[in-house]
Amino acid sequence: MDSIANKLQAVRASIIAAAVDAGRCPESIHLLAVSKTWPAECVRAAAAAGQRAFGESYVQEAVEKRRELNALGLEWHFIGPLQSNKTRLVAENFDWVHSVDRLKIAERLAAQRPLGMPPLNICLQVNISAEERKSGCAEADIARLAVQIARLPQLRLRGLMAIPAPTAEFLAQRLPFAHLRALFEQLQSQELLLDTLSMGMSHDLRAAIYEGATLVRIGSAIFGERNKL
Ligand SMILES: *Cc1c(COP(=O)(O)O)cnc(C)c1O
Repeated sequence: MDSIANKLQAVRASIIAAAVDAGRCPESIHLLAVSKTWPAECVRAAAAAGQRAFGESYVQEAVEKRRELNALGLEWHFIGPLQSNKTRLVAENFDWVHSVDRLKIAERLAAQRPLGMPPLNICLQVNISAEERKSGCAEADIARLAVQIARLPQLRLRGLMAIPAPTAEFLAQRLPFAHLRALFEQLQSQELLLDTLSMGMSHDLRAAIYEGATLVRIGSAIFGERNKL
């Protein structure tokens, strides 16, 4: 079995290779290590190997892990579906939320973000593979939602996130990412100061980097295959 440190190193190498092949600067791509379902010891191992940013999908699990690892000063990103009754815990315990897809959730996060903390970084999740996934806002709503979220106090809108329907073929993987990038560029031209295109997972990392991802969310390639919950 390869160690977490070795797998992390291999993921970093693939990010650099993809960036170079795509003619991009490797430093423009941030790695989020998705540690959902993995115990605090696995996060600790990745942190010891230099990883700072971790992604979680289940609020309670994440809050406990964060508490246990508090002394390490890590950066926590919430990437899972977010219900209204969980927004307070997320506002109090995370640095980023990638899965905001409606105004009501953003308003609750803004109201519940403690005043002493820095603004909560937000990505608007877009449903780019239409009916196949339930989460994510409709494309037609992006511009309006982005402007509304950008105006809320205690939040900082950083960009867009999407999870395309899985496919194995490289060119097919690139299409939805290219589409998300076009939507992102439209928003940037509307004078919103956005810098984050959150796209790409273990199986489609390279395609996402070719299409301009600035943050890739990688779980299984670092920690191993997850058991189904
Ligand atoms: C689980 C998850 C990931 C990581 O997926 P892997 O295939 O394990 O790399 C990325 N993004 C989101 C939103 C996830 O829920």
